[in-house]
Amino acid sequence: MYDIEKIRGCFPILGEKIYNKPLVYLDNGATTQKPQCVIDSITDIYTHYNSNVHRGVHHLSNICTDKAEEARRKVAQYINAQSDTEIIFTRGTTESINLLAFSFGESFCCQGDEIIISEMEHHANIVPWQMLCERKGMRLRVAPINDKGELIVDEMFNLINHRTKLIALTHISNVMGSVNPIEQVIRKAHSEAIPVMIDAAQSIPHQKIDVQALDCDFLVFSGHKMYAPNGVGALYGKGDWLNRMIPYHGGGEMIDKVTFERTTYNVLPFKFEAGTPDYVAVIGLGTAIDFINSIGIENIENHEHTLVDYCIEQLSKIDGIRFIGEADKHAGAVSFLVGNVHPYDTGMILDKMGIAVRTGHHCAQPLMDRFGISGTVRASFGMYNTKSEIDKLAEGVERVKMMFG
Ligand code: PLP
Repeated sequence: MYDIEKIRGCFPILGEKIYNKPLVYLDNGATTQKPQCVIDSITDIYTHYNSNVHRGVHHLSNICTDKAEEARRKVAQYINAQSDTEIIFTRGTTESINLLAFSFGESFCCQGDEIIISEMEHHANIVPWQMLCERKGMRLRVAPINDKGELIVDEMFNLINHRTKLIALTHISNVMGSVNPIEQVIRKAHSEAIPVMIDAAQSIPHQKIDVQALDCDFLVFSGHKMYAPNGVGALYGKGDWLNRMIPYHGGGEMIDKVTFERTTYNVLPFKFEAGTPDYVAVIGLGTAIDFINSIGIENIENHEHTLVDYCIEQLSKIDGIRFIGEADKHAGAVSFLVGNVHPYDTGMILDKMGIAVRTGHHCAQPLMDRFGISGTVRASFGMYNTKSEIDKLAEGVERVKMMFG
């Protein structure tokens, strides 16, 4: 049984009052709240064993290093990577994609080559590729979506040619919640010997990810969207690719031997982890994974599916609601507009009722252009949300309608 009250009890912030009303937190796509065990793990480090990792021979450094490497093993197991050396810790999805765009781009791409993305990408999965294209004289190809907010897979496949170097695709749209058929895309890409990067920022907190079953070449995500502290995320890459890529940042930790004439690089994963990592966040990510595992990601997925369906059902009853994104496969988020009311105004009124939603372009301006809008209101869900919170959202939307006629 999914013990929602017990789960909610693990998140102290859910007891907060906003304008003297209970917090209804529906902005999980932006960041999730942290369970007490994750908060405690941070305090525990600074109270008992804080010390820089990988560098010391002393006791504290050894404890910290062991815990950070244990967290790497937990991440590897969580996504079923073949080896924990395939997990590169970064600051989050954005840094992971920038790392890949630089290191993959410098290692394998030439003038005239092409990268394929989709029309529903977050800016983090657009701009780094644009920068690579500008640097190298390459071309960014964009696969379109249909009016329901679904990737038009055949059109993506039509873009593939002998210059295609990589497909970089989001698993779940952060705006619309559309779930992309990544298995199909990976199969097709591999049949043409093209590697695929999956942006799992919006899927990793909601469903089981198995990188070996998917057979994706790279996968990126952020810890803060999966109940872990800010400042940590990961790039998963198949060892074969990572070993052949040049490093991203230079500095301490990523080296084997340095002379003024020449530097040789460390082995994986350290080759891509220059400088002191946010090891406190890394260890917190390990704790967050333990917490998710204790509930069961499949249970969380089922619970959240019920919430998404219920949210669509309840909002559909309100006259004048327009959904942005009505994909058949839908998870995590629901985006909508209330008549002609500006999303910002809707967000402000909901806020006064203690309801936190996100409004605006959600770092997906090209997607907004596709729908001819400036922004949406987005409700996005986490393991601790309830149907009664969705009822409050629907009530709030009714109030917005009333106030704006
Ligand atoms: N990709 C997607 C699909 C996202 O939703 C986000 C953040 O919302 C990102 C990338 C960027 O994540 P971060 O800001 O944690 O690096």
